[in-house]
Amino acid sequence: MLASIEISVVVPCYNESCVLKEFHTRLGIVMESIGHTWEVVYVNDGSSDQTLAILYDLQKQDKKVAVINLSRNFGKEIALTAGLDHARGTNGVIVIDADLQDPPEVIQSMVSVWSHDIDMVYARRRMRDGESILKKITSWMFYRVMAKLGNRIVIPPDTGDFRLMSRRLLNDLLQMRERHRFMKGLFCWVGYPSKELLYERAPRSGGKTSFNYWSLWNLALEGITSFSVFPLQLVTYFGFAVSFVSACYGIWIIMNTIIIGSHVKGYASLMSVILFLGGVQLISLGVIGEYIGRIFNETKNRPLYFVESYRNYAPKPENNK
Ligand code: UDP
Ligand code: MG
Repeated sequence: MLASIEISVVVPCYNESCVLKEFHTRLGIVMESIGHTWEVVYVNDGSSDQTLAILYDLQKQDKKVAVINLSRNFGKEIALTAGLDHARGTNGVIVIDADLQDPPEVIQSMVSVWSHDIDMVYARRRMRDGESILKKITSWMFYRVMAKLGNRIVIPPDTGDFRLMSRRLLNDLLQMRERHRFMKGLFCWVGYPSKELLYERAPRSGGKTSFNYWSLWNLALEGITSFSVFPLQLVTYFGFAVSFVSACYGIWIIMNTIIIGSHVKGYASLMSVILFLGGVQLISLGVIGEYIGRIFNETKNRPLYFVESYRNYAPKPENNK
């Protein structure tokens, strides 16, 4: 079986017990109709519900299933990386969420659009059903900010992780072992010809999203700090601007004192300038701190994840360096 797998499907799973069976049935139907040999690698990302037991059941019934059980919850980006590390497909790898928001049926169009001279087919949402207005607005803003700051890499808007990649692109992607992983950005950073496929994103079929606004904000921060040092430059420019205005104000005060003489006044202006500068300095330290924190985490050079158990998979020691 090992040598003949052409396409791997990688599915990170965190507390997805209510949708997994339906997901696997639908995925199986689609993959069988495509006519390539395939496997599906489910990564259990430290779920606290019945996810792992269900995955083991699926594996018993279907030898195309491989299960990677991580030692704890590492978060989607790392669970996805673990799955990609273990994918055996020689031609291509598909990444899809377990919650049926990415309909497995779209894979059929993905494979048909895919050709030898295209290394990636990414699915772009036509609309975001079942998501709040605030989430739509914030995600719209995020993609626009990233487009401005992305340093020549353009992350396509309204695109998640749902995509098909060639083996060549995947091998290059897996060389990037940074701890702060913003996968959507990394996929694009690799480059190679890619193609867009529009699809309707469905609402979650069951369970609930593990991304609240706080984690989405952190993901956005990860995206910006992983791909741009613009916030650091912004602080510098802001510093210059404030210094220039302060210098002008200083000259005005000195001239005033020389010409008119000194009256001990100006408590309000003194306080507001001190408070304003204090605020600016704290924000600047915070921005620098965000980057230093990331440098700190990267220098520890820890493995990205640990695997607790495998099913239908012989672990390769070179994985997860
Ligand atoms: N996921 C994961 N680890 C986590 C959180 C999520 O593996 O810590 C998986 C989850 O099971 C799903 C995918 O990542 O397959 C997307 O998660 P979710 O649906 O919660 O995100 P959203 O669609 O709301 O962005
Ligand atoms: Mg989802």
